[in-house]
Amino acid sequence: MVKKILFITFFALLFSCKETSVTTMTSASTLALLERSKAIQLRAEKIERHMREWQDSLDRFEKQNVLQNTINDNDFVDIEKLSNYFVLDMKYATKDNFLKKAVYSCAKCYVRGVVAKALIKANQDFMKKGYRIKLFDCYRPHSVQKKMWKIFPNPGYVANPKGGSVHNKGAAVDITLTDLQGNQLDMGTDFDHFGKEAHHSYTELSDKVISNRKLLREIMEKHGFSIIKTEWWHYNFKNKQFKISDFKWKCGNL
Ligand SMILES: [Zn+2]
Repeated sequence: MVKKILFITFFALLFSCKETSVTTMTSASTLALLERSKAIQLRAEKIERHMREWQDSLDRFEKQNVLQNTINDNDFVDIEKLSNYFVLDMKYATKDNFLKKAVYSCAKCYVRGVVAKALIKANQDFMKKGYRIKLFDCYRPHSVQKKMWKIFPNPGYVANPKGGSVHNKGAAVDITLTDLQGNQLDMGTDFDHFGKEAHHSYTELSDKVISNRKLLREIMEKHGFSIIKTEWWHYNFKNKQFKISDFKWKCGNL
């Protein structure tokens, strides 16, 4: 009899254990499923948010086109007021440049109206291919050129303010490319690397770097810009000549 009771108890216990483990397994897999569906939902929300932002950008873009028709070719314009698609990394407004000094009081990219229009068109072409223009330097007031020359009076690095630079005319930009998320493409050297590796004729670079530089150059040239031999990042707008200027942009939300 005792044996029988023990036998029944053993099986009863075994059964209950099994049941518990099944229940535990079921709740664990339900939790995992819930977690998974939560993750999918979050991802869907993120995609939706991105699409909404993209749509907003497109809407603003249409407005920009309207705005562009009112831009005077000679006027200095703030590129950020015309387009949301550029990535700005104005190196001379920080200490992260070869001078190790900030020479701009705030980070703004001003260029002449006609240059801005060409840049926006070039950026549209890049975006169709999945890239964006990142701007390192744009118009540079003549007084800043003098300041830079005082810090670093070496014509290999800084244009002598006597003759000035095309940057002082609002018709030159220092740029690179990023993907649509803003990750910089490999161009072989940093911006303002003063060495032969930055020259357009230098070919001891990976195929990727060579094709990145080629892409940048081809589209910029298509839109009226020309290179200088020694700096892969520098582009001059060649379709119109301008005078050197000392126009100074305002900082803050003005
Ligand atoms: Zn430059």
